[in-house]
Amino acid sequence: MEWDKSASQLLEKVPPFVQKTVREKVEILARERGKTLVTEAEVMAAREAFMGRPQNTTTPAQHAAAKKPVDNGKLSILKKYAKYFDKDGNPVLYQVKPCRGAEVNCPFLITDSNVLSNKLRNRLEELNFTENLMNKIEGQILPHHTMKLAVSGCPNSCSMPQIKDFGVHAIEPVSVDPDSECIECMKCVETCREDAIAIKDRHVSIDQERCVHCGLCARVCPTGSIKASEKKYRVMVGGKVGRHPRFALDLLPRADESAALKALDVCVDMILSNKTEHRFRTVIEQHGIEEIKKKI
Ligand code: SF4
Ligand code: SF4
Ligand code: SF4
Repeated sequence: MEWDKSASQLLEKVPPFVQKTVREKVEILARERGKTLVTEAEVMAAREAFMGRPQNTTTPAQHAAAKKPVDNGKLSILKKYAKYFDKDGNPVLYQVKPCRGAEVNCPFLITDSNVLSNKLRNRLEELNFTENLMNKIEGQILPHHTMKLAVSGCPNSCSMPQIKDFGVHAIEPVSVDPDSECIECMKCVETCREDAIAIKDRHVSIDQERCVHCGLCARVCPTGSIKASEKKYRVMVGGKVGRHPRFALDLLPRADESAALKALDVCVDMILSNKTEHRFRTVIEQHGIEEIKKKI
């Protein structure tokens, strides 16, 4: 990720032995905010997020320009956490966390999770999610009222979509091509960590109950006997941590991008139209996940 001149100058002031770590943390936060260029504002926001409060390296005027908190008494608790505000000090009542697969050239990567993450962020902006949630909640807005989303570039799920209100990971479904001859090299069997592939007399079978659609077997098969089909997303909803942690429920096992975005629309509508301030998981349990499926 590129850094502009003022951001680079701020980084140079950090002791050399922690510069690499600081750079990584700033870039993670910038990416979570949908930025592609690190500016002074991103550095200051990261400093506040990781150190609890800004250090006195900006002038009061610069700091005032960087943070203009919305004058709304409902936000006084959230103001303790920089992650709930954008660089201009406006509240952002959702967080979208991509995995780092594309950034680190992860060998398991199916799809760059930043692509869908940015589209989910844009959709939440279009839906005025923050403003509508603020209008809905009568008292103080608390961290658990905000919507948590995560996207992972493969089923390894490093950004933990299973414990988010709305979680997605990429999949690469595979199938056996009966027209290609298996040479029994066993590379697919050795690669599959789910023990989902059986080879017998040059006949290939894949146990769909075990297969997690990581696509790795198709990548190593030299004859094309196992083929990958179009990349898709698995969409899950209602995951949470806290006093009563729950793993997310499967909503769409094989969704394309437009179905994933439609699922987000339906979930947002459900969150905002529910009269209670319950966590999304509770709302889903009250209505049943089938109700969401029907609306997609
Ligand atoms: S979720 Fe998959 S692609 Fe993303 S960082 Fe983890 S292993 Fe790599
Ligand atoms: S896609 Fe992944 S889990 Fe499924 S059979 Fe191939 S290697 Fe195993
Ligand atoms: S990798 Fe392909 S050719 Fe080798 S055993 Fe598996 S299916 Fe057969």
